[in-house]
Amino acid sequence: MDNQPLAFYEYLDQIVNLELKAKRVLQGATQIRYTAARKLCGPPLSRIAADLILRLPPSSLIFISTGAGNPTTLPKGETDGPSGVAFLTRVLNALSHPVCVVSESHFLPAIMASLAAVNILITKNSLGPHDPVSTFASPFPLGPDEADAHVRRLLDQHPNASVAIFIEKPGPNTAGVFHSASKNFLEGDPHDGLMPLDYFVWAAIGKHRTFVIDTGFNSETAAQRKREFLRCPSEGLKSLGVEPHKVRDVILTHLHYDHVGNFDLFPNAIFHLQDREMAYATGRLMCHRRLREAFDPEHIVGVVRQVYRDQVAFHDGDSEIVPGISVHHIGGHTLGLQAVRVNTARGWVVLASDVSHFYANFEQKRAFPNVVRVEEMLEGHLRLRQLAASPKHIIPGHDPEVMRRYRPPSPELISVCVRLDVDPIEITTEREVPSEIVGAHQHS
Ligand SMILES: [Zn+2]
Ligand SMILES: [Zn+2]
Repeated sequence: MDNQPLAFYEYLDQIVNLELKAKRVLQGATQIRYTAARKLCGPPLSRIAADLILRLPPSSLIFISTGAGNPTTLPKGETDGPSGVAFLTRVLNALSHPVCVVSESHFLPAIMASLAAVNILITKNSLGPHDPVSTFASPFPLGPDEADAHVRRLLDQHPNASVAIFIEKPGPNTAGVFHSASKNFLEGDPHDGLMPLDYFVWAAIGKHRTFVIDTGFNSETAAQRKREFLRCPSEGLKSLGVEPHKVRDVILTHLHYDHVGNFDLFPNAIFHLQDREMAYATGRLMCHRRLREAFDPEHIVGVVRQVYRDQVAFHDGDSEIVPGISVHHIGGHTLGLQAVRVNTARGWVVLASDVSHFYANFEQKRAFPNVVRVEEMLEGHLRLRQLAASPKHIIPGHDPEVMRRYRPPSPELISVCVRLDVDPIEITTEREVPSEIVGAHQHS
């Protein structure tokens, strides 16, 4: 392969990274990851992969992991896993490497059928070194503990294992919860697909003062509410040089558990909150289970205590906290939800918080189902546009796209934080979708 010109691998990279999805939320994501990987690795990725495979000891076992479409709740699931495995396995078997296909047991029949369809020799277990090169399946358990034990067993049983290849597949989080697109739009989503939420805290760091906007939630809440917990927001802030106990201003967009948990990690802060949010979270509407679901009474009581310690600053409607930072009552999702507008080097950035969970909510004027007043939420989408320097200056509250569109402040913080005061990465991939789903559905 050494004698192949570099351009050959560049073309191969392009083919391998072609995005074939008609799902706009994820369109362009491959390009961003590819660009990042090239920055780290240098030469074309297909060449690195080829070099690696050619350097493997003869007859070493290769694990390939993938899925086979989504569960029945997600009818438009991905199907590229099995064909990808079949293609790779053909190549690897030809190079004398046995393959072990690893997937959840309910996915295996479809994957193994794809392998059988291209005449790959399938056996029950791995064969001896003098037998023909074969491929076998290993059902993978669910849950982190079982998975860990299973991986250790596999490695013990197969000392000739050398590489594991993962073909991207959507899956439930560690608590077994799938987040699908239809859960993110009030009217449902005709092209359902996996659409998970990210949870953020934000910081506006100035020369003299730092404002923290929302405080996230902690590991206990994550376990209770079946959310994956990546890190304590205070750790994320510390990596930016923000010490929670030194923070003097925290803006709470609203009092939902995922925005006000950890408020106690900011003992010296004034909490900026809308009058209407406190009234809502402590008033008669909390008698309705559906409306109080996303509130945690411990947080609410805690914030009431802060009032008695002179640590809450109430705002009513639009309010400038300091020049360059203002809050704007929007309502809708909760009665006192506020968006935050920050003047940055690239102009006015608006942290929408739960005014718009996803880009798709405000871009397509589609309400998120967790809503008290639909009209306020929909009007709120328009208000975001008025407040922001451009639509590119609006930051939705829970969209994983944000982490893909913006750059980390430093290489160590890849996938931890991004800078919102710097223009987003231009997405160069074709972002059009088939005409019949434009309007009705652009992101899923
Ligand atoms: Zn909320
Ligand atoms: Zn939220």
